[in-house]
Amino acid sequence: MTGRTLISLDKVDVGRLKGVGDKKRQALADAGIDSVLDLLTHYPRRYLDRTSQAPIRDMVEGQEATVVALVKKVNARRTRNGRSLVDIDVFDGSSYLRCSFFNQPWRAKQLLTGTEVVIFGKLERYRGTRQMVNPVVDLIGNRTGRIVPVYPQSEKAGVNTWELAGWVDEALERLEQAGNLIDPLPREWRDRLDLVDRTWAMAQIHHPDSMGAAQSARKRLAFDELFRLQTILVMRKRAVERDAIGIRHRLDGDLVARFLKGLPFPLTNAQEQAIAEIQRDLGGPHPMHRLLQGDVGAGKTVVAVAALLTAVQGGYQGALMAPTEVLAEQHHMGVSALLADLSVPDEGRLEGSRPVTVALLTHRTGAAERTRLHAGLASGGVDILIGTHALLTEEVAFRSLGAVVIDEQHRFGVEQRAALRQKGTEAAVPDVLVMTATPIPRTAAMTVYGDLDTTVLGELPPGRTPVHTVWARGPLEEAAAWERVKSEVAGGHQAYVVCPLVEDSERVQARSATEERERLATGELADLRLGLLHGQLASKDKEAVMGEFRRGALDVLVATTVIEVGVDVTNATVMVIEDADRFGMAQLHQLRGRVGRGQDPSWCFLLGGGNSPDSEERLQAVERSTDGFELAEVDLQLRGEGTILGTRQKGATDLKLASLKRDRDLVEAARKVAFAIVDSGSSGRGGLADHPDLAAEIRALVDEDDRDFLFKS
Ligand code: ADP
Ligand code: MG
Repeated sequence: MTGRTLISLDKVDVGRLKGVGDKKRQALADAGIDSVLDLLTHYPRRYLDRTSQAPIRDMVEGQEATVVALVKKVNARRTRNGRSLVDIDVFDGSSYLRCSFFNQPWRAKQLLTGTEVVIFGKLERYRGTRQMVNPVVDLIGNRTGRIVPVYPQSEKAGVNTWELAGWVDEALERLEQAGNLIDPLPREWRDRLDLVDRTWAMAQIHHPDSMGAAQSARKRLAFDELFRLQTILVMRKRAVERDAIGIRHRLDGDLVARFLKGLPFPLTNAQEQAIAEIQRDLGGPHPMHRLLQGDVGAGKTVVAVAALLTAVQGGYQGALMAPTEVLAEQHHMGVSALLADLSVPDEGRLEGSRPVTVALLTHRTGAAERTRLHAGLASGGVDILIGTHALLTEEVAFRSLGAVVIDEQHRFGVEQRAALRQKGTEAAVPDVLVMTATPIPRTAAMTVYGDLDTTVLGELPPGRTPVHTVWARGPLEEAAAWERVKSEVAGGHQAYVVCPLVEDSERVQARSATEERERLATGELADLRLGLLHGQLASKDKEAVMGEFRRGALDVLVATTVIEVGVDVTNATVMVIEDADRFGMAQLHQLRGRVGRGQDPSWCFLLGGGNSPDSEERLQAVERSTDGFELAEVDLQLRGEGTILGTRQKGATDLKLASLKRDRDLVEAARKVAFAIVDSGSSGRGGLADHPDLAAEIRALVDEDDRDFLFKS
């Protein structure tokens, strides 16, 4: 029997279904549903399982429950303080229940007397009446059946969940007549991963025989979403490796060895392993494309420099790109210091060698300096170039770029990575190492950075004392925080005060920091020497303030988040973060990383917050753990993948069922299968040549940019 493909369903307009007239067609289009495939992948958001329904009479106070009942009475009014309040009384044959909706005046029109509703919420008692406040309500129409799918519906769109259900039924029936859905996932993998057949899954997700069946269906369809995405990422990865000729870097030079020997500390095991792993890539025939993840302070710089020097010792050049000027300058200072005593052979010189040359290029670099730099890059006189996006400009041309490190505080795009890679010679593609200090959970990394290999620096250098973090929950605890600042300063240490994050505007932010400094100078921190640092200061003033703070001429640095990156003063032992709940967890963790850099015990106080359960959980987590990876997991659980994925991986945001937090195992499985299939091509070229159905499906269903990238030949 021939079957239907998802693509063929995507070509059938929903308007061809019975009951979808012009008006409904438009309403569906507004909801993003144009084809039968769109309709079938508009999955139920939950199910009403009538077999596990409790009558209202048996419901227990303080517990959540689902109720199916008839609306008996509707009463809309305003409360004394002007809020809209809609009360509805519902009855299910056993008892009455009051549902109160605040600030949802439209409920009065939605929940008319006589309507059957499904209500989910927590039962409370208020003045003797059993009630739910702002429960979740779905209208299901007069649908019967043991398990009823409830579809996401928007009030505006003008289609309701039972209309959707009807059209889905019709589409499924027609599909059944047309034969099964083609299943591009080989049988062998379905069996191994215990995945059900696609046709069955598509039917059961809409009309499950049991809740277990719904689960199996969901698992299969979620797998498909993840699998398509991973296949793209793996193809992209293999394309970079396979089609590009890399440089076999020399691993036997002594520059790297001399560098490592000259360090004032022994490497951590994690650093040693990372360097070994990176060197294996560098010595290999294919260009490296690797992600180095490591918590704040894990010592990524040394690893990056070792990679760059591996290129330099073989006569190539290295580049390091950072997302901000501050960070680029910081790297330039740090790397220059690390390489101060190193030299490379130079036959043109009497002494036969010259110092390793490190140069800085940002948009601030003057024209004359720039010209000099360009010449140095072209001649090979500059060994390592550090800078911002400025590195990507056209005039920047290397004699022989061999290795690139990208420090991604804020994530460059795939295109920018590619742009830098293209600055290599015609003959070979440089190796690329991407570094991130914002740890992200493994499954998220597989998705966001799925085209890269990953190395994790999972260990901090020894001797660090974890920062005591305290969430100051009230005035007394806040007072204790300021006392701690004073006592640390009295003991010869220094402190940071991080000012509240103000939306969007650097100017407003700078002003609020200025005001906060004034306030503290006459208030909590009177008598201390306070400095001020914010993004609006001229860079020479910034440097002056930082210089004073480093020298110990200032006790306290009142700052905006500009200190998030780059600032490294080991004598600073306390940080106070105001309005801490305005910051994300990763950012709090980054900020906190500015203290605890020396041997002395240190503190971080989080002020404010706790206005929502969410902010409470975040602050508690930061208080509890100093492990960036653990915090990243919590963040994923609390906020979902959206914030992690951002706009970076557009394909990933097409995930309808799959979730990076719930479906960790599926992500791993999907990646494994993608590798197996992409690498198994019988033609020896790999790719999807043996899997035309899969190739066609991905081509049709996946985001345009990704597709162009993949299928351009
Ligand atoms: P990050 O991973 O945040 O970029 P850095 O590379 O800036 O971390 O290193 C943080 C600090 O730790 C630096 O002062 C660096 O000199 C120091 N450091 C790096 N590796 C080690 C080590 N193996 N032992 C002791 N200190 C180290
Ligand atoms: Mg760093």
